Formats: sequence, C-alpha cells, structure tokens
Amino acid sequence: MKTNRRHLVVVLGDQLDRDAAAFDGFDPAQDLVWMCEAVEESTHVWSSQQRIVMFLSAMRHFAAALRADGVPLHYESLREGSLADALREAIAQARPQRVRLTQPGDWRVLQALRQAAGPTPLDVLEDRHFLCNTARFASHARGRRQLRMEHFYREMRRRHGLLMEGDQPCGGAWNFDADNRAPFGPDGPGFLPPPTRFDPDASTQAVIALVQARFAGHPGQAAPFGWPVTRAQALEALRVFVDERLAPFGRWQDAMWTGEPWLYHAHLSAALNLKLLNPREVIAAAEAAWRAGRVPLASAEGFIRQILGWREYVRGIYWLQMPDYARRNAFGNDRPLPEFYWTGRTRMNCIRQVIGQTLELAYAHHIQRLMVTGNFALLAGIAPPALCDWYLAVYADACEWVELPNTLGMVLHADGGYLGSKPYCASGQYIKRMSDYCQGCSYSVAESTTENACPFNALYWHFLMRHRDGLEGNHRLRMPYRNLERMDADKRDALWAQAEGFLAKLDRGM
Ligand code: FAD
Ligand code: SF4
Repeated sequence: MKTNRRHLVVVLGDQLDRDAAAFDGFDPAQDLVWMCEAVEESTHVWSSQQRIVMFLSAMRHFAAALRADGVPLHYESLREGSLADALREAIAQARPQRVRLTQPGDWRVLQALRQAAGPTPLDVLEDRHFLCNTARFASHARGRRQLRMEHFYREMRRRHGLLMEGDQPCGGAWNFDADNRAPFGPDGPGFLPPPTRFDPDASTQAVIALVQARFAGHPGQAAPFGWPVTRAQALEALRVFVDERLAPFGRWQDAMWTGEPWLYHAHLSAALNLKLLNPREVIAAAEAAWRAGRVPLASAEGFIRQILGWREYVRGIYWLQMPDYARRNAFGNDRPLPEFYWTGRTRMNCIRQVIGQTLELAYAHHIQRLMVTGNFALLAGIAPPALCDWYLAVYADACEWVELPNTLGMVLHADGGYLGSKPYCASGQYIKRMSDYCQGCSYSVAESTTENACPFNALYWHFLMRHRDGLEGNHRLRMPYRNLERMDADKRDALWAQAEGFLAKLDRGM
C-alpha cells in the first residue's frame, strides 16, 4: 500500500458513485482510495447469498473502473472480520493525514468508522445522492410530533420544481394514488414485458463461486443472478423500464400474481441504493416520458412519489431518529420470527409465494413486503428486531436506512405512528382482492373461525381487539372498530379463540 498519503478516501459498498463528495478534489498524486469486502458486513445479519453477490460484484466492477482511470486504489478482497478493524489497519499502513468518507447509509457503520479512525482526522462529507439532506429534513420535522409523507412530498415537489406547472401540481392534483391500486382481472396480467436481467460476466461469476463456497449456509441462492452491477447496466435497466413498463406500472403498482414476481415494477432499488443511479436522473426520465406523452400522468407521478417522496422521507426519518428508532416497540411485541420466513414452508399460499420468490430472486415488490409478509408479522406480533433483521438480510436492495423505517415504522407501527398515520393491518380479504394467491391456498379466505379458515382473518380482529386502547381513537380505523362493535359477542369470542389457537400453534413451530 502507498504510504504517507494526504487523504485516504474510503468508498463503501453502497457508495459506488464517482460524483460522491469523498472524491471532491481527489489528487491521484497524493490521495488513495480504499475499499474493503469485510465479511462482517455479510454476517451481522444473515445476508442472503444474492444480496452478498450484488454488493461484492458491484464493488469489484467499480474498483475495476477506478483502476482503468488510473485512480490509485487499495482494494481488500473478502477479508474476515469487521470493516472497522480493516480500516484501522489501513490507516496504520497508509498513514494518511486525513480520512475522507461520504456519509454512510447506516448509523452503525458511521459509529464504527469514527472509532476506527482514532486520532486521524475523519471528514464525513454530505451524501449528495439524496435530494433532501439531513439538516433540511430536520428542519422539516422541527415542531412536528408526527410526520406525514404527503406533506414532505409536496414540499419536495415545490422545492425541486418536479411535475409542476408554475406553483401548481401538474394535472391539478398532488397525487393519483387512487389510480394506482387496481387488481388484475381473473385472467391475470396477461403479457408482461420481461425484466431486464444481465448475464454475469467473468467477474460476477467469480463472486458467485466465492459466495457459494464461503456463505453456503446463507439464505437463498447466489445464482441465477441478473441484477445490474455497473452504471452502464443500471442506465440500461432504467431506459427499458421507462420505455416498456412505466406506463402500466401506475395502475397495477399494488397488484400481485402467482408466478409473476417482476410485473411492471422498476427493479431499480438495488442500483439506486448502491448509487449506480442517481435519483434525479431516474425522476427526470419518468417526468420526460410523461411530458412527451409516452406514459400517463398517474404512472409518472406514482413512480416519482416513491422516489422523491417515500425514499427521501424514510431516509430523513432514519437519520433524525437513530439510534433510538431501532429500539422502538410501541406494541411491546416479542414473538420470535417463525421459521418459515427462512424457508417458505407454510400452508399459507400468499406467504409461501412471496417468501419463495424472495429467497430465489432477492426481490419482492412493495405490497408483497408490506401486505403479505409484513401484515402477517404485524398481526402475529413479531418482535421488531427479528423482523427487521429478516428484511435486511433477504433483499438485494436491503440497506438499513431504508429497510428500518419501512419495517419498524410502516409495517409494524412500532414507532407509535411517527412515520405513518395508521398500521397497515388487513384481513385475508385484501390479499384476495389484490392477488390470485387465495385460489391456490388450502385455507379458505371466506372463513374466519373454522378449522380451515384463513389465519389472516381471525388474526386481524385479534390485533384490533388487543390494541383497542391505543388504536380505537385513530380516525383511519374508525370503520373497523365500528364493525367490531356491531359484531355479536359470541362472534368476537370465537375470533379471539381462533387467533389464540393459531398463535399457540405458531409458537410450537406449527
Ligand atoms: P418500484 O415499485 O418500481 O418503485 C420504484 C422505486 O421507488 C424503488 O426502486 C425504490 O427506490 C423506491 N421506493 C418504493 N417504495 C419505497 C419505500 N417504501 N421506501 C423507500 N423507497 C421506496 N426498499 C429498498 O430500497 N431497500 C430496502 O431495504 C427496503 N426494505 C423494505 C422493507 C419493507 C418491510 C417494506 C414494506 C419496503 C421496503 N423497501 C425497501 C421499499 C420497497 O419495497 C422497495 O424499494 C421496492 O419494492 C423495490 O422494488 P422496485 O425497484 O421494483 O420498486
Ligand atoms: Fe393467504 Fe389466507 Fe389467501 Fe391463504 S386464504 S392465500 S393464507 S390470505
């Protein structure tokens, strides 16, 4: 390693962006880039094989591009132990005057690297990838007891002039959410454009072999692997999405169908989170497609809302609330995660389908995560840390700054309603309406208290009954509580007993 450097520029696995602040003023004569594949980053949660391949392969491709451009780089291939220990060693060897780092995505990593830098000055530079920096988000949140994505989103639209005509939203409305919730008809989606997948090159194949050998016991499978791992591939995936799937995306954003994991979604989250893509270019491409008359406004707006709204909003909450946020547990849930989350082996067909594709592809779309695996965990009272670790482990796009607020806040409502106004709890009827899963299920979604009844039904009422004190006053839950009130007592008792019986079986490992 070159020694006595001016700056040691640390580039993490989710910072693969040459325009990142850590590269500002980079001088190849004096500075050195440092990258490291630390094993602990793949084991602190039980990361799926596909997620590990995604990170390592993208890092190696980024490193190769740096080398090709003559950027001095010290790259440590898979090394046992922690990132912090590796950095400590690198600093001792390179003896830089300063260490420079773009703000990491994860609070845990920032703390560890601060410690590792020791007496060497560490510059933590703003992450310009995001459209809203942490200071601006903090000022948005100041004085608000609860936050709402919709307020934040409108502020972002105005500030960045996106989908605006003067000071008014294009189309006369801020969101077209109501147009984004259609289920497929009985025949399903029909023809679907294929997802953009990339054949692994020699470098990715080597990573796949490495992961299969070193992380053999980890969930899922390393191959087939088709995620974009370079900026050029990510741009190609974006282009194809806008050309072929953005138009229908809007209408069927929430729909699910057996054997169709990809549907019209973008599949761009992993590329965005590793910084192969910039959210500004993604949003601009969607807006331009609408302005050119190629996609409906409801589709462009629905897509832009996810990135300009939700993605920035959850990141803001994460940095504002950490580290306390990770310990929130408003419902006091303590049930362990059922084993079937790691295997997909359950009679519940919806869960079997979603977990099956998750383990195979490291992908499930938002409603599958929120309303199937998430909804079940909410209703069953799974402990937040156990569920958060699962979501952080199994998806190719998983990074704590986005995973944690989605799981703890949106799915489990464990922050007491700071992120969202109500828990996304639903009975089997929601899954029946939005998918064909119930047709292939050995439970009956029409039943609630028989032996063969869909577990979601009784669990839903059980959830509302057991959290009545905390939730009854929530105006968005007025209707279900009114229905519960109207129910005769025998029915309520039967639902309670049914759910208790199911949870007892769950605790015995079904
Ligand atoms: P599309 O449906 O096509 O959406 C477009 C883009 O919008 C996505 O690529 C993503 O960047 C962004 N987006 C959409 N919804 C959200 C959201 N709720 N929060 C933040 N960004 C959003 N997303 C991650 O990127 N990493 C995670 O670790 C992650 N964990 C999640 C855990 C749970 C429990 C839930 C409910 C959601 C999670 N999400 C996460 C959000 C969302 O499910 C994924 O971003 C999306 O499914 C990725 O697929 P896509 O690229 O096809 O997205
Ligand atoms: Fe899921 Fe219930 Fe439908 Fe079965 S019947 S697929 S468990 S919602």
